[in-house]
Amino acid sequence: MKQLLDVTDLCTYVFCKRKLWLKLVKQIKEPVNEHMVKGEIKHKIMEAFSKTEHKVVSAITCDYSIANIIEAYKQHFISTASKLFERYSEKISAFKLDKREMLSEFLAYAMREIKLRLQPISSLLLQGIEKQKLWLMLKPKYISEIKISSDELKLKGRIDRVKIDANRYYPYEMKSRAFNDVVYDSELVQVTAYALLLEAKYKQEVDTGFIEYSNKTKQITITNTLKQKVLQLRDEIFDLQYKDNMPLPSILKKCQRCNFRHICFG
Ligand code: SF4
Repeated sequence: MKQLLDVTDLCTYVFCKRKLWLKLVKQIKEPVNEHMVKGEIKHKIMEAFSKTEHKVVSAITCDYSIANIIEAYKQHFISTASKLFERYSEKISAFKLDKREMLSEFLAYAMREIKLRLQPISSLLLQGIEKQKLWLMLKPKYISEIKISSDELKLKGRIDRVKIDANRYYPYEMKSRAFNDVVYDSELVQVTAYALLLEAKYKQEVDTGFIEYSNKTKQITITNTLKQKVLQLRDEIFDLQYKDNMPLPSILKKCQRCNFRHICFG
């Protein structure tokens, strides 16, 4: 039995109970596909970027234009991505992925990160604050790929991005899909679970989170009802691990985009 439940398991459970049962009880792994490899490399690039962002900002001086700031970040992303592509060269070759295409897709994504930082950096530069002091005084700060866990909550996860502003913490969950007027339950559960984990780590209330889609960022109020729902789902999943019978299948619409189709429907 798992000691700490991964937040993504909560999402899988909301998507389809049977899918999570197959994963946890029958230990069936999802077959790795191109999309998963690209996602893994992107997460690693963002993790490496987050650890080295201070170097980019500490090199920015008051004579930088907006275009110069964008270029400095862009070059840093390119060099970080190149190193990661090298490290993942075997997987990239195995799936016949095009590195140039991957870099261009990644840079489009990275522009979202850069845009978030332009206004706060420009505003400090106008006050004559540059280089290392610029990094120290930069607010808000954004950290990507935070690994977080709590024995008390019996949860663990990796948050795509956390905004830290005036000593308050805001989780961001990044989605590759476009927003279509619907926030899925699994997305609400995910961002709420991250809020609970941040609360446990930093001992302060987290009442707001964000889901960033490819076309829009949705602010989410993390209510107590949502928090209770997450804890209830967590408990249900711990019980699920003891069940011998496979849960009923999900609705067919979901099955069409599920990697376990071949198991459920032969
Ligand atoms: S194929 Fe359908 S029923 Fe089976 S695990 Fe996937 S979503 Fe659930």
